[in-house]
Amino acid sequence: MYADIIIDITHEKLDKIFQYRIPDKLKEDLRIGMEVVVPFGKGNKETKGYVVSFSEKPGYDPEKMKEILCVAKESMAIEAKLVALAAWMKETYGGTMIQSLKTVLPIKKKEKIRQKRTLLLVSDREEAQKKLDWYLEKNQKARARLLAALLDSPRLEYDFAIKKLNLSATVVKALEEQGILKTEVSQVYRSPVAARKQSRREICYTKEQEMAIRRFREDYDRGERGTYLVHGVTGSGKTEVYMAMIQKAVEKGKQAIVLIPEIALTYQTVMRFQRVFGERVSILNSRMSAGERYDQMELARTGQIDVMIGPRSALFTLFPDLGLIIIDEEHEPSYKSEQVPRYHARETAIYRAKLEGASVVLGSATPSLEAYYRCRKGEYVLLELKSRVREGNLPHVWIADMREELKKGNRSIFSDQLRELIQDRLEKKQQTMLFINRRGYAGFISCRSCGHVVKCPHCDVSLSVHRGGRMVCHYCGYEEKAVTACPVCGSVHIGGFRAGTQQIEEMAAREFPGARILRMDADTTRNKDGHEKILEAFADGGADILVGTQMIVKGHDFPGVTLVGILAADMSLYSDDYRAGERTFQLLTQAAGRAGRGREEGEVVIQTYSPEHYSIQTAARQDYCAFYEEEMSYREMMGYPPAAELLAILMTGPDETKLILAAEYLKGFAERLGAAGQLAVIGPASPYVGKVNDVYRRILYLKSDKYDMLIKAKDKLEQYIEINTGFKDMRIQFDFNPMNL
Ligand code: ADP
Ligand code: ZN
Ligand code: ZN
Repeated sequence: MYADIIIDITHEKLDKIFQYRIPDKLKEDLRIGMEVVVPFGKGNKETKGYVVSFSEKPGYDPEKMKEILCVAKESMAIEAKLVALAAWMKETYGGTMIQSLKTVLPIKKKEKIRQKRTLLLVSDREEAQKKLDWYLEKNQKARARLLAALLDSPRLEYDFAIKKLNLSATVVKALEEQGILKTEVSQVYRSPVAARKQSRREICYTKEQEMAIRRFREDYDRGERGTYLVHGVTGSGKTEVYMAMIQKAVEKGKQAIVLIPEIALTYQTVMRFQRVFGERVSILNSRMSAGERYDQMELARTGQIDVMIGPRSALFTLFPDLGLIIIDEEHEPSYKSEQVPRYHARETAIYRAKLEGASVVLGSATPSLEAYYRCRKGEYVLLELKSRVREGNLPHVWIADMREELKKGNRSIFSDQLRELIQDRLEKKQQTMLFINRRGYAGFISCRSCGHVVKCPHCDVSLSVHRGGRMVCHYCGYEEKAVTACPVCGSVHIGGFRAGTQQIEEMAAREFPGARILRMDADTTRNKDGHEKILEAFADGGADILVGTQMIVKGHDFPGVTLVGILAADMSLYSDDYRAGERTFQLLTQAAGRAGRGREEGEVVIQTYSPEHYSIQTAARQDYCAFYEEEMSYREMMGYPPAAELLAILMTGPDETKLILAAEYLKGFAERLGAAGQLAVIGPASPYVGKVNDVYRRILYLKSDKYDMLIKAKDKLEQYIEINTGFKDMRIQFDFNPMNL
């Protein structure tokens, strides 16, 4: 047998298997996924690598083949199933195998597990008493102190005893040798969450919850595994449904992973799970220490917990028998990795589940088009929760047409309606949230008189203003001179739209003197717990108005909030991205879901220059299906995902002229690949930030009906890039179905 090894050096040219002989001392123990040290390269430098498979036949003359030196010390082995997952990730998302292997191994190094030593009295009391007298007689004070303490309490914590009794380790050893006491060693895992024993109130599921749970459980009992989408409005009790599903998996002796977006990873969520699963729940997050993270992974690997909660990377938690993966808020862009391999947690979870015989449950109030599309095609099972658990109605949503405000002469950022409602809430001592949508870029050009937005004639996304007064499309590179008057109505109130949280805070302070205002944005939350602290202060009634970006939309429940104002809903609507409509719908729906979660009924005001846009109309009605139909027909017409597959090729380099030329060459080559008609090439275009730190950027897009076609094209493009010197000094990255370019 020979070991197939991936060397731990990230370089395209080394991204292949190197074979090594297995020394006799390792013949028995070497396993797939182990990290080993091997001689590598000309100087036989000691280099680390991972065993990914074994071969019976040597790939070349075994006489010339080098031998593995040893297993790397303190290393973590990757389980064979995760090696297979890594291979799939490399295949599906690009990058090198070593990058994928490291991604599925979130913890690379063993950490010391803390140990606790306890001293136990083992000889019988009578004998111990005699011994104590003897020590006293012989004036052996230290021994006497220890024994007297043990006679008082037969279990003593080692560290405590040594310190409190002022002893040396030799005293303990002496008593141990005489058979008087014994040291017991136990492992202590660092715990990021204080385990709380809480009594769980009995819950009576709603009919819809009952149906969703029953469907899942019956499938599970029959041994059927699959992917489910829980589409439930905010407050419909999705978390309770997830927990009931996990209970089923646990009942069968299996474990579960629960993914939540990092921003929503609050202790509230963990406490809810603890109420049901007690101490058999743990969490992972980026704020924990290496030791804490290592311990949580060990608890999972050794089956001491049943549920792991965490952000994207928790997907790679190793369990003895993984039975279920839950992805809450599956539409969140944070589920797509921004590092190579640029994987999406949804697809990766589904593949991992297939390897391990587990099920996947996705949940959202505003499912991604991708997930809903797969339901329509019958690939996922749709489970719907249409009503809120508590009788409370969904909030009433008003749309304020900002073009009308301008006509009335109101140039303020507040529509008359929103201003009146805020005043009303201040009088009633109820709370208001003012939400500014900053996800989109402020670069688009719109007319404040008629709402017209200048778009690319080819791609149907908004053009962005660039320096030098030009408007540019970020997909195809189309350009035109910036307009000074509206091409539709001739109004001169046309231009880029800008407003920040700070500005809104100031304007609110001027409009509503005496109101207590809190602001939450990147500036005010820079400190470690800044985010939590502001939300808590607001939840405690510490302010009348909370002004913030999309950060305020998630997490806490605010029963005191009865009014949500959405300023500039258009900002995300006209970002230069084909997902603009979807993001707007999601943000508006989630923001609206914040109103009226308490006893009082909620109201929402959406301020917009495009009141007729379907994203705004359907969000106001909370009508996901209508939104989906409209958005899907747009994607189909334009050939955007999920109606088609998209591959972005991001090229960066220090020399702009060279970069532009190289992009043209690459485009030409891609076009020849796509000549059979199964591939379309768009661009090259300059992305929103065309130049960062003196590095220029260009993006090329490939579109196809078939993912396989894009993977093949990527392989061919990589070869082409490797053999052509014109791409030297450039970085070329591939991103399948990108989310944040
Ligand atoms: P979602 O995740 O869909 O927004 P949650 O699961 O957070 O909804 O539920 C909202 C609130 O309703 C929570 O406080 C939860 O404890 C409560 N809840 C959920 N299901 C029920 C039920 N069947 N009976 C009573 N309360 C419930
Ligand atoms: Zn106009
Ligand atoms: Zn275009």
